[in-house]
Amino acid sequence: MMEFQNSENFAKKMDELDPLKSFRDEFIFPTFTEKPIVYFTGNSLGLQPRNAAVYIQDELKDWATYGVEGHFLAKRPWYSYHEQLTLMTAKLVGAKPIEVVVTHSLTTNLHLLMVSFFRPSGKRTKILCEAKAFPSDQYVLESQIAFHGLPNSDLVEVSPRKGEQLIREEDIISKIEELGEELALVMIGGVNYYTGQLFDMKKITTAGHAVGAKVGFDLAHAAGNVNLQLHDWNIDFAAWCSYKYLNSSPGGVSGLFIHERFADDNSLPRFAGWWGYDKSKRFKMESGFIPMPGAEGWQLSNAPVLAMAAHLASLELFEKAGMYAIGEKRDLMTAYLEFIIDELSARNKDRCTFELITPRDKTKRGAQLSIMAKGQGKSLFEALSKEGVVADWREPNVIRVAPVPLYNSFEDCFRFGVALEAAIQ
Ligand SMILES: *Cc1c(COP(=O)(O)O)cnc(C)c1O
Repeated sequence: MMEFQNSENFAKKMDELDPLKSFRDEFIFPTFTEKPIVYFTGNSLGLQPRNAAVYIQDELKDWATYGVEGHFLAKRPWYSYHEQLTLMTAKLVGAKPIEVVVTHSLTTNLHLLMVSFFRPSGKRTKILCEAKAFPSDQYVLESQIAFHGLPNSDLVEVSPRKGEQLIREEDIISKIEELGEELALVMIGGVNYYTGQLFDMKKITTAGHAVGAKVGFDLAHAAGNVNLQLHDWNIDFAAWCSYKYLNSSPGGVSGLFIHERFADDNSLPRFAGWWGYDKSKRFKMESGFIPMPGAEGWQLSNAPVLAMAAHLASLELFEKAGMYAIGEKRDLMTAYLEFIIDELSARNKDRCTFELITPRDKTKRGAQLSIMAKGQGKSLFEALSKEGVVADWREPNVIRVAPVPLYNSFEDCFRFGVALEAAIQ
């Protein structure tokens, strides 16, 4: 383990040694802060890749030049635009190409996937999720349960134990075993948006399957952040948005995964649309739905090309850097930020201490640290903002920061520490 130092020199030396340092220049940093920016909210909205504007401009130009003929004549034909994202997406999440597609938005995809994979029958009606799931996920689960005419009590939550912040994996597993044949579905956020806790998705999937339940994950905070092996972990389905760690524009397109074993399973019920229809026969416009094999069979609509152009620009950067190198830098930089926060906390303990909610074990987290500021309220966060730090505040006293490997630097971490110390004065 390397000896960290909380100094500008040390941080700059770390940046020099960083094999991914050149990627910072591929992104545009916001300019609205008075002081030089420390952008630590890539977990909410990733920064704009420089090529996003280039690729979007290409589509605007082809639209102007070709009108409807752009579907086939555009430089990147719109008819099959989504297909060029498939290989890079598959690699990013550890899937086979047949298992993924980029389409719709995240919440839409969760609903579409639950239509296929939440099939309550007889005693088996319950869904297991984490307590305090992201609000959209809670509404998805509640409304799906109501849609099937089931009582709200069929939604079972696993909470942290009293006095603890994190959910123990053993408690998830024992709840799965306890519910047994009453359990229809496990659906959990792979990385919790609030605490930054990364769950062992393989273990949860195995436990869910052992009692005969389906298992799906919301990967909004996991995709592009942590290393995923969705195929090997045997997960049934998953979805993620592309605008957080994947830097693909506000409200950008979502990714959808279904395991290969469902690729040709036409017995699964689904809500269908023309873009999920077998492409070779799509324009015969016949009645009777024949799905595309694999994840593409869950598509409803033709591709939102402008949003996908931004996604293409970002995916190319992930492809170039590779998730392995991204993961190495993520663990090192997050550990460095953790070190700085601990040091500040020790040095200022009569004023304010910072307690990390996020697991300290690097195999149990991604790039996000959630910091509880004891003895301070929102004024601390406001002072931090004045220092140029863009972070996220959750009542009553939690600051979430995400040093993102592709564009943040060790110097950003150092400067965050300086800003945090100035803010508590
Ligand atoms: C960000 C996020 C969402 C957002 O859903 P959209 O449909 O993209 O608006 C949903 N779930 C989780 C867990 C998230 O982190």
